[in-house]
Amino acid sequence: MRFCVECGKETEELFDGLCAECASKHIEVKLPETITLEICRDCGARKKGNLWVQEEDKDPLKNAILENLTLEKSARLKEIDVKNIKGDPYLQLFEVSVILNAFGIEIKREKKIEVKVKHALCPSCGKKHGGYYEAKLQLRGKIPDGWEDYITEAYAEDVKGGIDLYFPSLSEEKEAVKKLIALKSAEKKESKKLHTVKDGKSIYKYTTLLRFDEGSDNSRKQKRRKRG
Ligand SMILES: [Zn+2]
Ligand SMILES: [Zn+2]
Repeated sequence: MRFCVECGKETEELFDGLCAECASKHIEVKLPETITLEICRDCGARKKGNLWVQEEDKDPLKNAILENLTLEKSARLKEIDVKNIKGDPYLQLFEVSVILNAFGIEIKREKKIEVKVKHALCPSCGKKHGGYYEAKLQLRGKIPDGWEDYITEAYAEDVKGGIDLYFPSLSEEKEAVKKLIALKSAEKKESKKLHTVKDGKSIYKYTTLLRFDEGSDNSRKQKRRKRG
């Protein structure tokens, strides 16, 4: 006869000295507290590592959670259910129910996960749009929180060191630059490059680089720094 060391039950099969029920109670699932989900605002592709993937099931959130879920060797995933608890478009809280099968028993585990949602443009869509943008705005340095609120229409892309924004028109870009500088002081550099000549008219592409100060936001309230 064999007995479970935890509950003393008589059983045919033991797992590390435990009956199936007791063993299954010790099964844990690991999920990070926060993950970042980066989605192409145009085609819905998801950024996975350094790659953009277009997933057939069109369920980027679930796939991102699955990728971050760690199971014990003895457990098999049966089902996963993701429920939104609260959040705004950029930061959302989800409850994840995981149904597992371990030692022939079905068990359920619940976890909470915070998902930071970032909308960007995948390189393939970026190329598609590249031909149409008139002005590019590069945000660098310590970008103030809430910058998105000051942008009306642009494609945003996270790049090394900051964010690149592509505006369909120069006037919209200029408007955004004005508002962003009012939000937080920044060093501004402008340049233009001849893109093409159409009907005898030169068409330029404009680039503005805003390098925000490293200090805290709302620098309007602070003393103006002397230019050195
Ligand atoms: Zn037991
Ligand atoms: Zn895309």
